[in-house]
Amino acid sequence: MKDISIVVPSYNEAESLPHLAEWIDRVMREQGYDYEVIVVDDGSSDGTWQVVEQLHQANAAYRGIKFRRNYGKSAALNTGFAAAEGEVVITMDADLQDSPDEVPELRRMIKEEGYDLVSGWKKKRYDSKLAKNIPSKFFNWTTRKLSGIRLHDFNCGLKAYRHEVVKSIEVYGEMHRYIPVIAKWAGFGRIGEKVVQHRKREYGVTKFGMNRFINGYLDLMSIMFISKFGKQPMHFFGAVGSLALVLGMVALVVVLILRMIGRIALTNSVWFYLSMFFILSGLMLFLAGFIGELVCRNSTTRNQYLIAQEL
Ligand code: UDP
Ligand code: MG
Repeated sequence: MKDISIVVPSYNEAESLPHLAEWIDRVMREQGYDYEVIVVDDGSSDGTWQVVEQLHQANAAYRGIKFRRNYGKSAALNTGFAAAEGEVVITMDADLQDSPDEVPELRRMIKEEGYDLVSGWKKKRYDSKLAKNIPSKFFNWTTRKLSGIRLHDFNCGLKAYRHEVVKSIEVYGEMHRYIPVIAKWAGFGRIGEKVVQHRKREYGVTKFGMNRFINGYLDLMSIMFISKFGKQPMHFFGAVGSLALVLGMVALVVVLILRMIGRIALTNSVWFYLSMFFILSGLMLFLAGFIGELVCRNSTTRNQYLIAQEL
């Protein structure tokens, strides 16, 4: 097994990659690691793949995987994870914003301090304040509150993982922002943090626009929901549905009593509409729960669990 795998998702990073590779090689040589670098070309149109081919030719430690089209950073990471053979797996952006000099310390924290995952923390950030720094503070705060994981910088591209972690988690959609959350739910709870050097992007442009805010939060909801109720949707829909039914029944009783003491016409009462609303919502939630259960029952992964040890 290799000492280290470095996974580099790359979308139109032809200019940066040769510099990054030089820097990585320097650090790896200094440390004497047996390493591999897996560059995942995420459907680039700028000659990124030619650069990867050259790197591979010059040094067999460089491996390349080329997507036919642009699938996104999560897909690139997931594919890199599947290919990685190192006992510690590092992810790093291709744009030279993350420093390879951090790798030895990250590896040490995994190997010696027993962390499953160590996330970089761009304490001093060299990105635009308005578009990145302030929104990201808010994003990190909510994620911290919802997940209970005490990280300052969930979305940092520079992270280190124990081999087993990357083989046990699945990253898709835009979920790369929440890998620590996914890892925690998979049972890898020892999550650490290291302050890392961040740098300005020198070549190319950022690949993430404003829509990342909306998608980001929707993804967080999906992760929280799937990890809590993914295997028993009825526990969620049934609970909320029961609550709605109870409220609906109460409202129904109120409206019937009011009617019997003859004070109102049924349809003039707000209680009438409340009872309709809650009873119908309740039924629909139950229905969603049942359908969810049927979907789970048919899922091929319904009985796949992550086993830590066996004797
Ligand atoms: N990236 C990717 N596929 C995409 C978008 C980005 O592989 O669809 C890579 C990109 O090449 C870079 C990393 O993900 O290596 C982070 O992207 P970027 O630097 O644009 O994000 P930012 O630093 O601006 O948040
Ligand atoms: Mg960047």
